[in-house]
This record gives sequence, structure tokens and C-alpha cells, in this order.
Amino acid sequence: MELHLHFLGWLSSLPQPSRFPSSLFSEEEKRNRVQEEEEHEKKEKKMRFIVKACRNGRAREGVLHLGSCPTAIETPSLLLSTCKGLPFFITRDLLPSLPSPDSHLLQMSPLHFFECPSATTISNIGGLHQMVGLHEHCFVAAPRDSILGLPDFEGTNKLGASFETTGGRRLVKPAEYMKMISSLKPDLWASLADEVPAWVSEKRNQMSVDRTVRWLDDCIGINLAAGASVLGAIVGGSSLDERRRCAQEVLKRNVAGYWIGGFGLGESMEERPALLAAVTDLLPEERPRQICGLGLPEEVLQGVAAGIDLFESTYIYHLTLGGSALTFPLDGEERHGYDSLLSDIGSDRTKINLRATVYRKDTSPIVNGCCCYTCQNHTRAYLNHLLNVHEMLAHILLEIHNTYHYLGFFRSIRKAIKSGDFNLFHQRFIEGRRDHLTPVALCSGPCIGSSQESRLRWT
Ligand SMILES: [Zn+2]
Repeated sequence: MELHLHFLGWLSSLPQPSRFPSSLFSEEEKRNRVQEEEEHEKKEKKMRFIVKACRNGRAREGVLHLGSCPTAIETPSLLLSTCKGLPFFITRDLLPSLPSPDSHLLQMSPLHFFECPSATTISNIGGLHQMVGLHEHCFVAAPRDSILGLPDFEGTNKLGASFETTGGRRLVKPAEYMKMISSLKPDLWASLADEVPAWVSEKRNQMSVDRTVRWLDDCIGINLAAGASVLGAIVGGSSLDERRRCAQEVLKRNVAGYWIGGFGLGESMEERPALLAAVTDLLPEERPRQICGLGLPEEVLQGVAAGIDLFESTYIYHLTLGGSALTFPLDGEERHGYDSLLSDIGSDRTKINLRATVYRKDTSPIVNGCCCYTCQNHTRAYLNHLLNVHEMLAHILLEIHNTYHYLGFFRSIRKAIKSGDFNLFHQRFIEGRRDHLTPVALCSGPCIGSSQESRLRWT
């Protein structure tokens, strides 16, 4: 034994061969490689996900330790949608009024930065956290944001994914995408995906899976540090076989978690549970799963029931823009005679339309007992006035309340999973909404909610 240790000591004292021989790497390339490896090591230590409870079928409760956020974030969780790194209406100084750390997960799209500022400028500033001054928030980057960067499957080709943006159609190649990711330095990022709507042909669907897997390889190949923070994109449209094939291919790659795309693009509520389960049944338990395209409360519950951990909040944006405020009870109990009866067109049992004249003299807060900044300081009558005179403050105050309320909804979901009551919570919520959902479903066929909105946008 002593001789063996002596031999090992002698071996380690020998000069070690360089990992980057001068004949193959220039000084600058060596520096870049070392920097990438250091970042890789740092991120591996930073990102940690633990499933704490899984007592309700596939639904699970977990904690996510991520990057710069000092406290672990409990899942299922909501990612706040942003435009260039900040929520659409809430100003940076009002962000601390939202519950912490629940509100510390932000979703951004690299597409928002393709016009300006340039990747070099962002890199010189030190990345997105530095640029927007949010050092204790975590950014998750995704190619599609469902608001300003919708997938454009007709324009997508073998070179890259096409998106409809405010600046027109844009084809994004993996190399360009990775250049932006390297500059922005998000805590997690999803690989580029070829998302297609539910009604495309089988051949086009297969092609979208092939491309998505190839682009994942391209993205990982470009950035050596990618594996520690990449969410491998999984698509497959409305085909159970293609969904499984894509998941199996992504499973073979070194990824930190999974980004499930291709939802909210015309599939029906009825076919969604099987499509979700086809993917989540194959995924390892210990890695986080994010979904894109599910936003309505009942869609979130479908996702949670299938074992999804992270959701986007574009629903909040659409609500706020339309002047609506969330009012549904957070404990899952139905309130008979709930004040949706007072509401106007566009309201249902989950929200009220504050533009309605019925609120002109209403001196109560949006929701009695709500602790958000808006409900603590303002009345429905004031919000009604601000909306009717087109004051931007109306949207700021509404986004604060809607975000606060939806974060509370996620808290209730976690509580229900913890206590083993998630299935009952889910059932009660759907029963409470049935009266509203039935006429909508009868009018518009099987596609409802945000999927319906998506279909309208796609046609
Ligand atoms: Zn409120």
C-alpha cells in the first residue's frame, strides 16, 4: 500500500500534459475554453432540483435552486413573462412588492435582443442580470415567448427556426441563437425548437422532431458549458409516437432539464393529457420540466397533473391588456353568488372586466383580503377610471394584482400536492368552471382557452 501511494505521489509530481496543446489552440481559444469550463463547473454547482412530494399520480412538488436567487424556489412555479428582461408593465422598483422568492423566476426570449443592443454590447455590460439590474432574480431563456415571438412553422427550414416578431419574420439559426445566449448569460435556457401546430401532416411533424434534436446537438456543440444549463426542447405535435421519439432522443443528450414545446397550438383540451403523459412518463424524475403554451388556470392544472414543474405567464399579460382582473377563490372552493354575476362581457368565474360600467362607483378593492399593492391602496372605481382614460398606470396596477393572484394560485396547488389533495383540488376547480366552459366548448368545438386564442392567431 505504501509503495502504491508513493508511486501515485511520484506520478502527480510529473509535469502534466497540457489539455490544450499550442499546436492545436491559439492563446485566445485556450482562454475561451478554460472560461467555458469554469462557467460549466460554476453552473453545475448552482442548479439543483429536488422532488419533495409526489403523492397525487404524476403531480409533484419540488424545489429549484438556481443561479443568483438566494432562496430556493418551490415548484410547480410560474415564470413571469418579460420584454427585454423586465415584466411588461410592472416597473423594476415595484417588483419587490410581489411575493418573494416566488416572483424571482423570469422568462425572457433572446429574440427580443436581435435588433438591439448588440450581443457584443450585452456581453461587455456583463449579461442580462447586470444590464437590467436584477441580481437576485433568475432568468430562463426560451426561443418562443407566446407574446412577441410566435413560431412561424411555414417559414422554418433546415437552417433555423422562423418566428413572427414585432419587427417581422425572423429566421434564427442555432449559431445566432447561441451567440445571444452566451451574451445574455441566463441561468437556464431552452434549445431552439421547430414547433408546429396540431394540424400539420405526419411528415412535417417528423421533420420538426428531427430538426429540434439536431439543433439541440448544434447548440450543445457550440457551447461547451451548455449541458449544465440547457433545457432540451421536446416537440412532436399531436402525435403520441413523435412526442415519445423526441423525448427519447433528448434523453440521450447531456441536458439539465426539459422544455416541452408545441402546446397551445391548436390541440384540444381532451387530447392534451395523453400527449403530456407520453412525454413526462419517459423523463427522469430528478430534472425540472418546463412547458410552453399552457396558461389558463385549467391548462396549468392539466400540466401539473402530468408532472410539469414550470409554467409561463403570458396569460397574465393578455388578461392585463384586456383590463381584466383575476378574482377566483384560491382555496379551490366554489363561492355561490360570486361577484362575477356583476361583471360584464368577457368575464367569467375566474375574472372580472374592470372596464365595465358596473365598477364605476365600486369603492371595494379588486379582491377583499388580497394583500397585493393594488388591492391595499386602490379601488375598482379608480382602476375603472384609469382604464377608461387609457392611463398606463391601470395596466401597472392590474399586472401587480394579477401576478400576485396567480402566484397565490400556484401556492395553493403546491399546498394541495403536499397534503395529497391535488386531485380533489383539480376536480373542484373544473366543476366550478363547468357552467362557463360548457357553452364555450359548444360554440367553438373542442379547442378552448389559450389554445383557441393560438388557433385564431394562426389562421
Ligand atoms: Zn390584489
